[in-house]
Amino acid sequence: MKRHPPEELIQLERLAVRLPTSHHKYAYIQTKYHQLKAGLAGEIYVDRVLQEISYPRGVKVLTDIRLEINPHFQIQIDTLIVSPHSIILLEVKYYAGTVNFNEDSGKTTKITSNGETDKYDCIIHQLDRATVGLKTWLEKRNISIPIIPILVMANGQTEIPVFPDSLTLKYAKQLPRYIRRLLTETESLQAYPSTSIAEMIIANQVDWRMTPACERYEITPAHLIRGVLCSSCHNPMDRKRGHSWICPVCKKKDPRALETSVKDWFLLIGHTISNKQLRFFLDLKSSAAASIIFSQSGMRRLGNAPQTFYTMNKTEVNSVVKSR
Ligand SMILES: [Zn+2]
Repeated sequence: MKRHPPEELIQLERLAVRLPTSHHKYAYIQTKYHQLKAGLAGEIYVDRVLQEISYPRGVKVLTDIRLEINPHFQIQIDTLIVSPHSIILLEVKYYAGTVNFNEDSGKTTKITSNGETDKYDCIIHQLDRATVGLKTWLEKRNISIPIIPILVMANGQTEIPVFPDSLTLKYAKQLPRYIRRLLTETESLQAYPSTSIAEMIIANQVDWRMTPACERYEITPAHLIRGVLCSSCHNPMDRKRGHSWICPVCKKKDPRALETSVKDWFLLIGHTISNKQLRFFLDLKSSAAASIIFSQSGMRRLGNAPQTFYTMNKTEVNSVVKSR
């Protein structure tokens, strides 16, 4: 069971590097980045807790599932525990502070320890949407297995003054005992081959097209910091003709900086790039310098000269950032 950082987190990490601190969205991007990072840490923690459970035969645990119910309705599920008799659906949240659920207004409010209030779209609604989506998806395949949704608080310090009526909410630590009980309770129900259900879910996952961060957060690409940026201090690096990139601040060579900087374009700005765009974005001195980068980068060439441009698929873009 391995959980990858969500694409949006990878984008935010790079956006935080490329966005000038004076930009009006800088604080917002930082907050969003830290929220998502905490969310991922919460999911990883819950994955560890779930490993404590000795599951009965045939139970499969799936993480980070994305399914298309219809072209206008897609769902993302943090964790699914597929047993022959039921499917347990977990939505994991990591919050610091006090959380209030308001089922009428459709908002979840979080009050931080320093008294700040954040409002989120209602998690109860979000969980219901995922449950209904998965139910519909399975029914289309003639499977009507019970789905048990659980909202999981990954942070044991989260205060919840009033537990919501309409759903099951558990702290991560309570999960092993609760899930063991659920699995035993549903044992008498009709059995489905859980392995085939799990395989079917995995095989039908949708690969969403990555929305570049500038489009997602409505940021003008021209506002981003240009250049090949140092991985340590994020300052633009220099290169003397025929030599490696060197950071003027760290005074060190950084062999990965160029690759990371090229990928920034695809994460932040667009799905294709031309020679002129690469030259501008990386602040290169000549189109020949850009051509060398294209030939060495493994990007795919599209179109014919003079309208040549290059592209890279999502897996390639994400792979470098993930492997760091
Ligand atoms: Zn540096």
